[in-house]
Amino acid sequence: SEQLALRTKDLPAVSTDEYRIRLNGNMEFPEEIPSLLAHGAEGIGLYRTEFMFLERKTVPTEEEHYRAYKQVLESMGGRPVTIRTLDLGGDKVPGKTKHEREPNPAMGLRAIRYCLANRELFRAQLRALLRASAHGNLRIMVPLISGVSELREARSELEACRTALSRAGVRIGNRIQVGIMVETPSAALIADRLAQEADFFSVGTNDLIQYTMAIDRQNRDVAYLYKPLHLAVLRSLQNIVGAAKAAGIPVSMCGEMAGDPIYALVLLALGFDELSMTAGQVPMVKNILRRSSRAEALELLNTAMELTTAEEIERHIRTEMERRF
Ligand code: PEP
Ligand code: MG
Repeated sequence: SEQLALRTKDLPAVSTDEYRIRLNGNMEFPEEIPSLLAHGAEGIGLYRTEFMFLERKTVPTEEEHYRAYKQVLESMGGRPVTIRTLDLGGDKVPGKTKHEREPNPAMGLRAIRYCLANRELFRAQLRALLRASAHGNLRIMVPLISGVSELREARSELEACRTALSRAGVRIGNRIQVGIMVETPSAALIADRLAQEADFFSVGTNDLIQYTMAIDRQNRDVAYLYKPLHLAVLRSLQNIVGAAKAAGIPVSMCGEMAGDPIYALVLLALGFDELSMTAGQVPMVKNILRRSSRAEALELLNTAMELTTAEEIERHIRTEMERRF
């Protein structure tokens, strides 16, 4: 993978019939950027900011948020940087003891729900993001959106912060995109409506599959049901991409599915504009995309979606991918 990275680092991820997909990196800490760039990531598709909260007792200040985001935006030198607002709550709660935790954390107060319930904490991050936006190409991404109201609420909080900062004379970037993670079945089903108000979509398959299949992603007893190629997941992805295209907004995927080479042709066929993954996966996924055509990918997907069970679809995709690569 390191050698492949060296050879393909500056080549675009483009199919033989000229379908271009942008490959971005997922990150948790600013220190990961050199490795992302070395592997050929063209931007950051997912910066999981909640990692700043974990393994510490106090909540980060606005200034700490700001310094981290500014450093990341500057080191990316104008490339797009998608910073996700805090995905805290559920099993990632700062300073909560075990017995205070929710009985069903995956379905509890997490991500945007947690931020809307803890406004001071949310505002500190939004203010830091707005201040940092002057230093690069920032996209703000809101996790676990379940309906349009949550997106409106998040946007109105962001606008309030923007107004206050502008009044105080703070310089703010002028074209910050505000997008959402599509990772709940409700968001996938109303993707057409969400696409009217979001600047971009990024599909979080880790959660989308968990909620679609009704399987706790931490529970090993049901892990065998975790199937990215389940027909329900594929149909869901088709609906999300279709809605984004119809509204003319870019659609990305940043869940683990995006970085697994076995799914590369399926994602090419579905029509994703961008894929975001761990740095180490970028060269392999790029290599597969550069050696394939979208036409053959579409044929593969169409045949796969005629099948019924996740096992049948998986077997078909695996056989075809092994035959090719
Ligand atoms: C996802 O759900 O696919 C995702 C990228 O977010 P996380 O894994 O951080 O929940
Ligand atoms: Mg998620």
